[in-house]
Amino acid sequence: MASPLDLPVAELAACVADPRDPLRAADVVDASLRRIAALDGRLHAFLHVDDAGARRAAADLDDRVARGEAVGPLAGVPLAVKDNLAVAGLPLTCASKVLGGYVAPRDATVIARAKAAGAIVVGKTNLDEFAMGSSTENSAFGASRNPYDLARVPGGSSGGSAAAVAAGLVPLALGSETGGSVRQPASLCGIVGHKPTYGRVSRNGLVAFASSLDQVGPFGRSAEDTAALQRVIEGADPLDATSRAFPDGPAAARLAGDLAGLRVGVVEELEVGATGDPEVVAAVERVRAALVARGATLVRLSVPLMKAGIPVYYVVAPAECSSNLARFDGIRYGARVDAPELDALYARSRDAGFGAEVKRRILLGTFALSAGYADAFYKRAMSLRGALREQMTAAFARCDVLVSATSPFPAFRAGEKAGDPLAMYLCDVLTVTANLAGGPAVSVPAGRTRAGLPVGVQLWGPDGSDLGLLALGATLRGATGLAYEAPALAREVP
Ligand code: GLN
Repeated sequence: MASPLDLPVAELAACVADPRDPLRAADVVDASLRRIAALDGRLHAFLHVDDAGARRAAADLDDRVARGEAVGPLAGVPLAVKDNLAVAGLPLTCASKVLGGYVAPRDATVIARAKAAGAIVVGKTNLDEFAMGSSTENSAFGASRNPYDLARVPGGSSGGSAAAVAAGLVPLALGSETGGSVRQPASLCGIVGHKPTYGRVSRNGLVAFASSLDQVGPFGRSAEDTAALQRVIEGADPLDATSRAFPDGPAAARLAGDLAGLRVGVVEELEVGATGDPEVVAAVERVRAALVARGATLVRLSVPLMKAGIPVYYVVAPAECSSNLARFDGIRYGARVDAPELDALYARSRDAGFGAEVKRRILLGTFALSAGYADAFYKRAMSLRGALREQMTAAFARCDVLVSATSPFPAFRAGEKAGDPLAMYLCDVLTVTANLAGGPAVSVPAGRTRAGLPVGVQLWGPDGSDLGLLALGATLRGATGLAYEAPALAREVP
């Protein structure tokens, strides 16, 4: 039999939840831990694997099933968690030395919800330090690798979570988005990654990078699996005042319905053009053609302020990060470098603890917020952000969904952009605007290049249409046949 890990999540959970079915959570978790042990030496998707805790949780779940208790929709499903989310009793490093030795005292809301639904946390995954980056090379603990080509990056910042799902180590993973950190690695690893509508998922227990942009997002091999995790983690949370419930409105229903009559927006500013990879351009064209063949219509439009996405993002995100990261001072959490004076202790602890990219962002943000410059940079960026939101509302009056590339290029070689911050920032040119505007967007697999590298297509919908978008992802797979395909490495371990 193929590994239970390769079953669709709903089927896997239904087997585990059924006391007459021979498949137990303990077997599923064992299969996941065996794959991790065999393959993660090459991928470095995980920073910490919780063998004992995962086996204990699986045994508990199996006992509950044997006693006839009802268990949730993710019963026995191994879950990998980006290491900027708190899981009680496990290290929480954000891939930073500054948090060395810190252990989370409690579960993030999304973790508590996933566990209550029966998911089993198997470990914490690698990321760019504090989620700042697009390749997972900015980790203080070493880079992760792309399962389709170990010489290439998995994308970032949630690269460990994406690589873990793509390599078949776990069926589901959680990441976080500030400017594309779920969608871009999903695209580079050939899986589905969803950026929820801002506020739809609680941020309680997610280490803050830029609070007005941050959202936790799910990864899966299919849109259905990803939606199963999204449904479990979403909803209002008293511990996050920005969270709220989003009823499934007519916009979501339209996306979840028939392709005939669907108005597909083609935004001039999201066209990759000459700067992107021709195979990515061709993949997007194929997907649009498949939609049109089934009765969808293309609506060409322009959202002029999308051109300002990267500059606005790189003012707003560093500004918020410079404030959020002030708490890492050598006193409250993790590593400390002692000094005779308190100020020197702060400075030395932060100097030793933070990596180069994090320092660059703190400096940029502090500058953008400083007296004399705040009007020129921060306030200007915020007013452009407001205007962008209005342009997005106008765009969604004319179409139901935007379809574009997720990333202008497939996975790039490790080291290729590591020395060039601007080139790295431009990885998110097609994704950051959704974070600035707040709406939901998902990346779904759209085939592979001739060299075998995955390409992703981004579907972006109106606020609150998350589950409709994921349903459209599934419909699109049916229409195009473009689905997750396991990398060769995943077949090494049954
Ligand atoms: N790559 C972007 C950045 O470095 C986005 C990161 C993210 O979404 N967390 O800020």
